[in-house]
Amino acid sequence: MINGARCLLWTGHVTGSSYGYVRFGGRRWRVHVLVYFMVTGHMPLGRPRELVLHRCEVNHCGEIRHLYLGTGQNNVDDRDNHYYKTR
Ligand SMILES: [Zn+2]
Repeated sequence: MINGARCLLWTGHVTGSSYGYVRFGGRRWRVHVLVYFMVTGHMPLGRPRELVLHRCEVNHCGEIRHLYLGTGQNNVDDRDNHYYKTR
């Protein structure tokens, strides 16, 4: 349980990198990125590089309460700090 929610696991296509993929609007999306876009209206494709990251570290999880916007560097920092466990 993270932020009061269990992981919402994608049961469709999952790649070798363990991200869930789905076709929507004529393009291929990572499931968690599409969820983030639909809930927030923000497409995380800007510069500096934006990534939709998982607090739960489950790559095919699509629970919005587990997702947050960060950078590749945040991802590394979070893994070191495990700050989400204190929330
Ligand atoms: Zn999750």
